[in-house]
Amino acid sequence: MKLQFKRAPKPESIPTADWNNWTWQLRQSLKSLSDFEKAFNLDEQERSAFQEGAEVFNIRTTPYYAGLAGPQSQDPIRRILMPNALELATPAQAMLDPLGERKNNPAPRIIHRYPDRVLFLVTDICSVYCRYCTRKHFTGQEQAFIKNNEYEEALSYIKSHTGIREVILSGGDPLTISDAQLDRTLFDLRKIDHVEIIRVGTRMPVVCPMRVSEDLVKILKKHKPVFLMSHFNHPRELTEEAAQAVEKFVDNGIPVMNQMVLLNGVNNHPAIVQALSRRLLYLRAKPYYMFQCDPSRGTDHLRTSIEDSLEIQKELWGNLSGLAMPTLSLDIPDGGGKTYYVPNYETQSSSEKRMYRGWDGVEAEYVNPTADRIQKPLDAELYFSEWESLKNAKT
Ligand code: SF4
Repeated sequence: MKLQFKRAPKPESIPTADWNNWTWQLRQSLKSLSDFEKAFNLDEQERSAFQEGAEVFNIRTTPYYAGLAGPQSQDPIRRILMPNALELATPAQAMLDPLGERKNNPAPRIIHRYPDRVLFLVTDICSVYCRYCTRKHFTGQEQAFIKNNEYEEALSYIKSHTGIREVILSGGDPLTISDAQLDRTLFDLRKIDHVEIIRVGTRMPVVCPMRVSEDLVKILKKHKPVFLMSHFNHPRELTEEAAQAVEKFVDNGIPVMNQMVLLNGVNNHPAIVQALSRRLLYLRAKPYYMFQCDPSRGTDHLRTSIEDSLEIQKELWGNLSGLAMPTLSLDIPDGGGKTYYVPNYETQSSSEKRMYRGWDGVEAEYVNPTADRIQKPLDAELYFSEWESLKNAKT
């Protein structure tokens, strides 16, 4: 079956050339109460949240993304972009830095949490400030591209840590920087011999798909291998424009991996996750993670309970193809790293065998081979030094 994607609405008064220009979208972003009042009928709760909501986290959306939101205050897209008085309510948990990034920050704009990879925060600007953002301690604060001295220090940290194999450009949103800045950054990273993979973590294909031009894709392609980490949360975000953006990447050999966040009142239903995952897969984007929302400040009303998330995952398991199945993952607060959840089908275990009851009730055992059959791969020693250097990469 051919899946259809709907075009996003465009106000007739705006010339198409302006609307399709990503810098116009950024310049015309809605930031103030009066900007939002021109585009939405705000209810009292939303209006009252503007002043104090901005203190919890900056407020901004592109006109394009605002156009995807429905008229009701409980609309899923609206819940992502609109400040809400509930952000100010007494929380069950609220952390400024739930991923403990500030204590894993050995150089300016570098987060080094895992041995073989770093985050490189090239800007703190986003074109939409998602109300559930996990990086409120950084995102949207200075509203600027990285300073030259910080850029050089960050690069020399990556250069001097030879165990770093992956650099993840993040922020803020790295696709809010210009093509020239992005090209220079990728060029400088590619000059570092031990950097194998570069990822670009961005929400621009979702909130401003006009950013994905032929020129941008050429730059990413030139510096391959580059992975595009998209961040679609809801099937309605996959408009015709967004679908074309995703296809532009994959047609040019840039793999797209999607990281969604489970959000209360937005996508916390297996039907929504399934619809999103199937559409992404159809576009050849891999549904990668389904994150438990971090307990960042002002997010209590957007978080699901872990039990609810597990229920959603259990419903999806078995019904959704493995290719379309995102992995449910929680970042352990305070920088504990990721933990993953999979449904547990094991009913009994011993060192000889384990018993299972599968997703549709089939029961069976898996018996281990006897110990005398176990042999290390003959050529394991060849890869030993690579393995050791990975384990020692952070030291
Ligand atoms: S795009 Fe990412 S970094 Fe920016 S506000 Fe949204 S979640 Fe946070």
